[in-house]
Amino acid sequence: MAKIGFVGLGIMGNPMSANLIKGGHQVVAFDVVPALLDKAVANGVERGSSCADVASRSEIVITMLPDGPEVDHAVLGPAGVLEGATAGTMIIDMSSISPLVSQKIAAAAAAKGVEFLDAPVSGGEPKAIDATLAIMVGGEQKVFEKALPVLQLLGSTVTLTGAVGAGNVTKLANQIMVACNIAAMGEALVLATKAGLDPEVVFNAVKGGLAGSTVLNAKAPMVISRNFKPGFRIRLHQKDLRNALQAAESMKVGLPLTSLVQQMLVALMNDGKGDLDHSAIVTFIEEMSGTEVKKPASA
Ligand code: NAD
Repeated sequence: MAKIGFVGLGIMGNPMSANLIKGGHQVVAFDVVPALLDKAVANGVERGSSCADVASRSEIVITMLPDGPEVDHAVLGPAGVLEGATAGTMIIDMSSISPLVSQKIAAAAAAKGVEFLDAPVSGGEPKAIDATLAIMVGGEQKVFEKALPVLQLLGSTVTLTGAVGAGNVTKLANQIMVACNIAAMGEALVLATKAGLDPEVVFNAVKGGLAGSTVLNAKAPMVISRNFKPGFRIRLHQKDLRNALQAAESMKVGLPLTSLVQQMLVALMNDGKGDLDHSAIVTFIEEMSGTEVKKPASA
């Protein structure tokens, strides 16, 4: 059993660190919010005093932080993970961040003999709790194989997708498909509703055909019942699409649909909707069209 460090004990990090303890590992953890660290200590993790302290007491350090700037600061900054790490330590960053930041951190780690994987996840809090996350990994095969038994305690599918950064490219690809899918669903349901149709009837009519999807099945019922409780927040999806556009720009790739939906997400955040579920992308199209997707009064 390894001694595992865990940095970032938020919505995802708290249940993930608990699953490592359930798997028989000793976990030492740190979060900048003392109340979150207290909660994790009550669940059985050892208290770390900084990212560097966590790293100095661990063989593997997992980070689960909001975005690239936080990961950069927590790993490369003062009292960061790399300061406490020694040659042979492994860092696994499971945050959803820009692949360019993953590559920068991997290079700094390699200069100190520290191994690095980027391993973002899909599945959200329920799958973090159940340890059934989909984990998309970037890094060297031999490092991946060493990390696999630990990652299998957190997810039900763990896939090596390529070199460092590939995990986050895969995650960005996932986030592009989900966001554009929700926006397209919104246009379709607004059109049908304004034409006088019951959106639930339309949903049931199309879901078995080519337009059917996991996104449609999960999100259309939420929109029709006007339930925008997150799930996955608009502001986090905006961050992912921004990272996708930055990565695309660095490779001279055009992402016209992603760019448009990212602007919709910015507008929704300015409209006070940043903490709603991303299914609320539909409300942007509703406002343009003066129509709300819901069952007709007579239905
Ligand atoms: P969160 O904001 O709940 O947790 C992040 C934690 O990091 C916070 O507790 C914060 O205090 C801590 N933190 C920030 N800077 C720190 C530092 N320098 N040192 C130590 N701790 C620090 O976020 P979350 O929902 O747990 O998401 C984490 C990552 O997982 C994000 O990249 C997100 O996009 C991704 N993700 C989230 C979900 C979801 O449904 N919540 C699903 C898939 C992927």
